[in-house]
Amino acid sequence: MKDAKNVLNGVATVVFDLDGTLYNKRGLAQRMVSRLWWCLPLLAAERLARRNMHYVQYASEDEFFGAFFMVMSRGHWWGPNTAAQWYHMIYLPTMTRMIRRYHHARPQALELIAECRQKGIKMAIYSDYGAVTEKLEALGIDSGQFDLLVSAPQLGALKPSEPCARQVLELLGAKPETTLFVGDRDEKDGASAKMVGAKYINIEKL
Ligand SMILES: [Mg+2]
Repeated sequence: MKDAKNVLNGVATVVFDLDGTLYNKRGLAQRMVSRLWWCLPLLAAERLARRNMHYVQYASEDEFFGAFFMVMSRGHWWGPNTAAQWYHMIYLPTMTRMIRRYHHARPQALELIAECRQKGIKMAIYSDYGAVTEKLEALGIDSGQFDLLVSAPQLGALKPSEPCARQVLELLGAKPETTLFVGDRDEKDGASAKMVGAKYINIEKL
């Protein structure tokens, strides 16, 4: 890794994104389409709902998902309950299965995690999806080494969200100036860090 040591200079807490950061997402979307061809309208509705829900903040996970599945169902034959069942029982488990089968943890992410452990730096996973523990397990990464496992929807929104990013810091008892966000999407992970005044690095730069 090029600058791992410099990257962690003055850092007491690292907040990792999961999808695209701990593993390379290339090919995952196509694999999801080929596995879920029988429910493509639901898959398309999920993507659209995700885009439409950006920058909307809810008070809780229940409220977030209530709105999310309503948006996913608008103008379709299925209702929010069907959308919810599909999301939790088909969509996320399929994504986890595809990760287990076709994707590997990025070596630079593993090195950074190891470096943090060695230095006693606190670590969190802050995902934009769910199934955090299952996906870590699918990648062969021990979830027990993190101080916090959380997704943005659990905190009421999608990334980037200032209230959610602040909650992550609060839950960790972390100060923004000594916190580093590591992600793969500057407009989500980088923006999250910027909103709370934390540092950020794109995993592709390591
Ligand atoms: Mg990502």
